[in-house]
Amino acid sequence: MNINMKVRTAILCMTIFAVALTGCSIKKEKPEYKRDVFAMDTYMVLKVYDENGEAILESAEAEIKRLEMLFSVTDEKSDISRINGSGSAQVSEDTVKLVSEALVYCEKTDGALDITVYPLLREWGFTTGKYQIPEDKDITALLEGVDYNNVTVEDGTVSIKNGGAMDLGAVAKGYTSDRICSLLREQSVSSALINLGGNVQAVGTKPDGSPWKVGIEDPKDNSRIVCSLKIEDKAVVTSGNYERYFIGEDGRRYCHIIDPKTGRPADNGLVSVTIVGESGTACDALSTALFVMGKERAAEFLEKHTEIEAVLIDDDLRLYITDGISENVELSSGIESTVIKRQG
Ligand code: AMP
Ligand code: MG
Repeated sequence: MNINMKVRTAILCMTIFAVALTGCSIKKEKPEYKRDVFAMDTYMVLKVYDENGEAILESAEAEIKRLEMLFSVTDEKSDISRINGSGSAQVSEDTVKLVSEALVYCEKTDGALDITVYPLLREWGFTTGKYQIPEDKDITALLEGVDYNNVTVEDGTVSIKNGGAMDLGAVAKGYTSDRICSLLREQSVSSALINLGGNVQAVGTKPDGSPWKVGIEDPKDNSRIVCSLKIEDKAVVTSGNYERYFIGEDGRRYCHIIDPKTGRPADNGLVSVTIVGESGTACDALSTALFVMGKERAAEFLEKHTEIEAVLIDDDLRLYITDGISENVELSSGIESTVIKRQG
């Protein structure tokens, strides 16, 4: 099959620009230390404002690499590969925590998030780079094994039934950013911004006490942002159809987020979903899940879950912004938005 494969470079995969305002308004009481890291198939940028910045960044990078070794689906020694290889494995505390938390969100989103979609991701070529549109019968057969209820966690052992296989790609970066922020706080850092390729998380405020400004990328033009968002001590996580995709011979775009109900790349009216909240893991799980749900279901979910905030972008590049953050959002020129009202 002559598929026109079109995957952006890893740099273009980053869905959010972290815009730390470094202009003259910052009083540099604390020095800035910055480090670029490539891990989890993504470019990451860590910025810490602290006298011990170099040593702190060293420990943060080591932690990222340690977690990558546990969660990788391609490294055959990882916890996840060992579970997938034999159906059951004794794993690290971090893997137990992450799988357990991911399962909570699989349930909460009625299976829009489903960590057992891995066999379908592989069939479509998203884990191998050999992109293809599978035959309907192959999708139907693989869908039979997709069900997060097949996964159990007990006494440090994670098991998956019925020959299934799991992938933590939808939540691993969120968990990692939570871990890094905890590590920084333990080392008394009061100002830091980490960007794990689309997963941004802030510790405190900018060094001058003002909020961080995080930009959300225009899904159709990666050279600009559609809006910027002021945050403090929060995670901002985006899932988009422009991050990793291929164009099929039918001319359609097939993105890396699979709808577990159909076994096909999600295409439900949204091109980008950004979730803002306290927990990086929760924001990561929900950005993927709400992308799968599509515009109407995602808006209904947000009406019931006021603990999170969101910016949805539809096919026409219109923004839907929840009421709790609408005043912190600055739109770029030409961008229109609707507020999702949830109170009163
Ligand atoms: P994210 O960039 O956080 O939205 O995560 C997307 C990644 O999660 C993909 O590259 C896959 O590894 C995995 N994935 C795709 N679809 C799903 C899904 N419906 N549920 C759970 N994981 C998924
Ligand atoms: Mg995610």
